[in-house]
Amino acid sequence: MFDYLIVGAGFAGSVLAERLAAGSNMRVLIVDRRPHIGGNAYDHYNEAGILVHRYGPHIFHTNSKEVFDYLSRFTMWRPYEHRVQASVDGQLVPMPINLDTINALYNTNMSSHEMAQFIASLAEPREPVRTSEDVVVSKVGRELYEKFFKNYTRKQWDLDPSELDASVTARVPIRTNRDNRYFTDTYQAMPLHGYTRMFENMLDHPNIKIMLNTDYREVIGLVPFREMIYTGPVDEFFDYVYGKLPYRSLEFRHETHDTPTFQPAPVVNYPNEHSYTRITEFKYLTGQNHPKTSIVYEHPRAEGDPYYPVPRPENQELYKQYKALADSTPNVHFVGRLATYRYYNMDQVTAQALTLYARMKGMRRSEAADVGATPTLLTTIPATIVRAPEPRDLAGETTATTRAKRK
Ligand code: FAD
Ligand code: UDP
Repeated sequence: MFDYLIVGAGFAGSVLAERLAAGSNMRVLIVDRRPHIGGNAYDHYNEAGILVHRYGPHIFHTNSKEVFDYLSRFTMWRPYEHRVQASVDGQLVPMPINLDTINALYNTNMSSHEMAQFIASLAEPREPVRTSEDVVVSKVGRELYEKFFKNYTRKQWDLDPSELDASVTARVPIRTNRDNRYFTDTYQAMPLHGYTRMFENMLDHPNIKIMLNTDYREVIGLVPFREMIYTGPVDEFFDYVYGKLPYRSLEFRHETHDTPTFQPAPVVNYPNEHSYTRITEFKYLTGQNHPKTSIVYEHPRAEGDPYYPVPRPENQELYKQYKALADSTPNVHFVGRLATYRYYNMDQVTAQALTLYARMKGMRRSEAADVGATPTLLTTIPATIVRAPEPRDLAGETTATTRAKRK
């Protein structure tokens, strides 16, 4: 008899398995229909011996000390600040758009102040800022929007930015300084030995049994359990009673090249050329030394594994119907990016799973994460913590304040 059947061994399922087993001495069966743990964050050494992410680039970043401390119990970290270039007008320029992007594009030598004035002169006021088009056009105007955002978004989502919630393109800021990092979070690092190793450490507990290559429906009725935690697509759980919730898929084309370096940046975005959106070169992310190099192209697809919920009002309405059904389904907890239909990053899913555990146990979340406990794995080697300086933009606001305002 298991206390919990957990469907999905990604961040949501693995955090809950670890907490229920190690934190509450529960017996847990975790099943995944894929042949591996880790969900979309799964990484592995390919045939050339290079560590790659099967489902596209996964860069860990968070402002939550609790989430970082919790995961640090299962991995050491490699400091890593992500950088992206975009191929625009025949050159590679920093993305997010910053002072250097503008000076390179327009062949100018503007200061931050001049850039702020320049983009203010291009910006088209939008009130309210409702869509992914509004967000960008209201900050930098139509020309830069078209060069960097419009076609990338149409490729990625098969929707015009005007048909997507503001939150999608708002993930990528506009800066008037020279900060060329993709993220500005306090903690930015990659698991030193990869994500899969971290998941192995999380799930390494005598109370946790793992079944791979198994759809949960194959074990229902065969394996007794008290409660279920479900991290798959919520519409699938309910046999699409209200119709399909749109999820966007990707096809990943992996290649290995017989050269030490393929491109000048970890990720190059192609907003306007090609049918793929971006190319990632993994050795930048992992720090691995190898005479060859492995890359992945991302081709957006309508069909295939569900990777992204599609944030727009009509989908939220449909999700609300499924959520009402989920809320009234006894003994099943829905958690994670697909089960709660939220465009969440790994740290947000970890936080969501810790919050669910806290609620199940009637604890505060800080207590639930148990970060004060003696680390089981890293007693002698402290995790490397990377504290990025908070860059300031022209208005004197930190990007964190800007982010907070946006919420
Ligand atoms: P998943 O990882 O999707 O896990 C759900 C698991 O449930 C899957 O393994 C699935 O096989 C299993 N499952 C579903 N249905 C069933 C069933 N019926 N029976 C058995 N098993 C089932 N986040 C970041 O923080 N940084 C990044 O750089 C980043 N990059 C990303 C890049 C791409 C291309 C994608 C797609 C996502 C990226 N993310 C990134 C987001 C990150 O992948 C997710 O936040 C995280 O993996 C979600 O974890 P999860 O447990 O909710 O879901
Ligand atoms: N985006 C864009 N151009 C870019 C990068 C991003 O238009 O060069 C938009 C696009 O709509 C994308 C969204 O911003 O889907 C979020 O980008 P992010 O890099 O966060 O996407 P993810 O890594 O989640 O795929």
